[in-house]
This record gives sequence, structure tokens and C-alpha cells, in this order.
Amino acid sequence: MADVTRMTATEIAAVIASGEASAVEVTQAHLDRIAAVDERVNAFLHVDTEGALESARAVDARRAAGEELGPLAGVPVAVKDVLTTKGVPTTVGSKILENWRPPYDSTIVQRLRAAGTVMLGKTNMDEFAMGSSTEYSAYGPTGNPWDLGRIPGGSGGGSAAALAAYEAPLAIGSDTGGSIRQPGAVTGTVGAKPTYGGTSRYGLVAFSSSLDTPGPCARTVLDAALLHAAIGGHDPRDSTSIPLPVPDVVAAARAGATGDLTGVRLGLVTEFSGEGAEPGVLAVFREAVDALTKLGAEVVEVSCPHFQYALPAYYLIAPSECSSNLARFDGVRFGLRVGDDGVHSLEEVMSLTRDAGFGPEVKRRIMLGTYALSSGYYDAYYGQAQKVRTLITQDFTTAFEQVDVLISPTTPFVAFPFGSRTSDPYQMYLADLFTIPTNLYGGPGISVPCGLSEGLPVGLQIMAPTMADDRMYRVGAALESVVGTLTPPEL
Ligand code: GLN
Repeated sequence: MADVTRMTATEIAAVIASGEASAVEVTQAHLDRIAAVDERVNAFLHVDTEGALESARAVDARRAAGEELGPLAGVPVAVKDVLTTKGVPTTVGSKILENWRPPYDSTIVQRLRAAGTVMLGKTNMDEFAMGSSTEYSAYGPTGNPWDLGRIPGGSGGGSAAALAAYEAPLAIGSDTGGSIRQPGAVTGTVGAKPTYGGTSRYGLVAFSSSLDTPGPCARTVLDAALLHAAIGGHDPRDSTSIPLPVPDVVAAARAGATGDLTGVRLGLVTEFSGEGAEPGVLAVFREAVDALTKLGAEVVEVSCPHFQYALPAYYLIAPSECSSNLARFDGVRFGLRVGDDGVHSLEEVMSLTRDAGFGPEVKRRIMLGTYALSSGYYDAYYGQAQKVRTLITQDFTTAFEQVDVLISPTTPFVAFPFGSRTSDPYQMYLADLFTIPTNLYGGPGISVPCGLSEGLPVGLQIMAPTMADDRMYRVGAALESVVGTLTPPEL
């Protein structure tokens, strides 16, 4: 039989269902692959070998007992280390949670287990999901399988790299400003940010609660849709969860794969398809737009004039929420505790713990957010940013009166070399220029590979109205039917 690590999740589920391979064999093949390449890639912070094999054995037992298996039963999945996993280390890429083993599973992880998927382990990320390169992980950066000297995107670089390195066929990410889509784009994989509230935040370590959205990562659009369907839907334990069923993303991906987009109106965001992106990225993007036109789609230019203010608004809103959310890491309830020697006061213990436990980017965000929320500055910064957020939402609403989805390149540039953007935070923030508006609006967005620029992957972003996640899967699958999947060089 062909190497299972090169198969899609759909193919893996089929070989397990038919008995061609057992779930244990599939799991072992992925564990072997991780053992062979992850020292160089560093996609995983923790590999749960025993837990994975145990889950796989349970799937094999269910199959042997003649039970009906779901569409992802036995398929391995890598989970971003931002989601709690019962008894399995959850660090959020930070020293402050080193060795923390949560007492409960996040809803996403519970649903992954219920679907019979096999969790291989936890993936590397920028600390507290703040970053665009995985270079801000406290546990060393992840390499991009296309070029190990380059970044795999961030903050969910570990999940995307695990897919591109064939260490896992499926992965989970979280997207606050682009952390699923941007790593997807620069690693040549698929990353989807669901509608905010369409996937549960219960057990997702909070960065910016009004933006954080867990979602699927895969090598194909159909696989991402299957994973989306498995993890999505209402959760009473998340107060912002939408009490509606997940749109039929799987049917939409299947429909799109036929390559027919007749009658679909694509809105090319004027502000994001001209300047602001590398010429190579724009050239590949434009070719992909032509290909979509040939599939029957109608392409119209749509101006979204406030999108250019999304980045500054985000860098006030997200740090503000983070400064509040991260106050809970005080050395009392979770993880690290420094200076508890009977000499230091409780306040000093908190301060020493936070100083030792948080990295520089997290500290920068906490300080920015605390400042933006402080009395006297609140209206000028946080309040103003909220008004901009409303204007951006209005741009989306107006646009969706004319078109079914909006499209743009996912990122302004391809994977950059390590160290090239760490000295200037603004240069790093620019990586999410095109993805952030979607988060501020709350709608869904997907990145689908659309070609290579100078040998490195380029992603095309499709943005849809809230709770119309199916639309982006249809267009994404149609694009994939033309472009195919991108195969990185052998590691
Ligand atoms: N790169 C953005 C940031 O640093 C987005 C991160 C994310 O989506 N988690 O905040």
C-alpha cells in the first residue's frame, strides 16, 4: 500500500474503513515520520505517543465490533498548543505554562475524540498566539518544510508545518488576526477561520476573546471541511457560540470540486489586490483569479475603504483584550511561580513570575493594551478602534450586497527568512494585513494554495458573510481543482 503519511484525511479514513490499514498502523506511520523529521522541523512541542496509540486501538476495536465509523475515524490530527488537553501538557508556547497539564479537554478536543480522530500531540506556536512567524515561541521556532531557514507563519506555524512535512494529515489552529490562514498560505496548505462563534472557545486559552476562533487546517479543502464539520457547532459552554448548525461545508467543498462556479460573484478587494503585496505574490494571485473566471465565476472589483485601518484598530483591540485576559497568569492558579520563598511578598511573587514567564512580545502587548484601556486614553484608543471596527463591518456588509465572497491574496509576502522581521514589530504585524479585517467583522475566511512565487507557496484568501462558511469552501475547492495541491521538496 502507498505511504499513508502522503494520503489525505479522506483517503486515510477510507483505507481504515475498508480494513486495508488499521488505525494503529496509520498512527504508527505518522509517529515514525515525526521521529524522522521533527528534530529539524520542530512542529511539535509534545508528542503523545501513548495517548495516540490508545485512541487508535479504540478505533480498531470499534471497527472489529462492526460499529459504524465516522468520516474521520482513525485519522491523526495535530492540535495547536493553545487548546486544553486533559492530562496532556498545554503551554501556549509560553514558559509561564511550562509543565501545566490541564484538568479538562477543550470542546474542540472533545469533539475530535468523539469523531474518532487520533491526537498525535500539541504543536508549536508564537507565545499566546501573538506573532506571525512562530519565532516568538518560548520553545524555539518551527521551520517551514519548503525551506527550513524560513518561517512557517504564525502564530500556528507548528500546525501548518506538521501538515506540509507530512507529520499529520489534519491539524487544529486558532485565528485571532490570521494565525490559521497566514501559516496556511506560506506553507502551501489549507487553513480556514470559521465564523466567529461557529467553533467553541471553551478551553481555548484566551488571547483576544472577541476575535479568537479555532478552526481546521489540512492539505485539501475537502479535508478542512470535514474537520470543520466535526469540530463546529453550538456549545453551551461558550457564551458567544452561535446556536445554529454548521453550514454544510462538506457538501459545498464537494460541489466546488466539480470546478463549476457558474453564477458565483467574486469581489476582488481593490485595496488588497494592488500595492501592498510583493509583485510575485500579486502575479500568482492574478493568475488564480483568471482561472476562477474560466470556471464561470464573475469577478468584480469591490472597494472596502476602511480595510486599510484594520491593522491599527486590531493592534489596539487585541492587546487591550489580552492585557485583561493575561492578568490570570499570576503564579497563583496556573503554571510557573517564581520567588515564593517566604521573603518576597505576594505582589512580588506575581511580578517576578510574570517577568520570568512572559516573553518580550507578550509583555509589549500587555503594556500597549493596558495603556489603551487606561482612563484618559480609553476613548482616544480603544473607543476609536471599536468605531473603526464598525466601519469595517459596514464595508463587508455593503460588499456582500454585491458579491457572494471577497477575495485577496492571503498574505502580502511569501515565507521570509528567520530573523528578518523580528527587530521591527510593525514589519511582523504586516504579515496579517489582509487577514485581520475578517476577524474584526467576525466572518469566515479560508486560505487555499494558488501557486508558487520563487519556489515558495502563495495563498488565495476567500472571505464570506457570517454563517456562510460553505461559500468559501465551494470557491476554495474549485480553485484547488485547477491548482492542485502543492508538494514541498523532500526533507
Ligand atoms: N499575527 C497576529 C498577531 O500577532 C495574529 C495572531 C493570531 O491570529 N493569533 O496578533
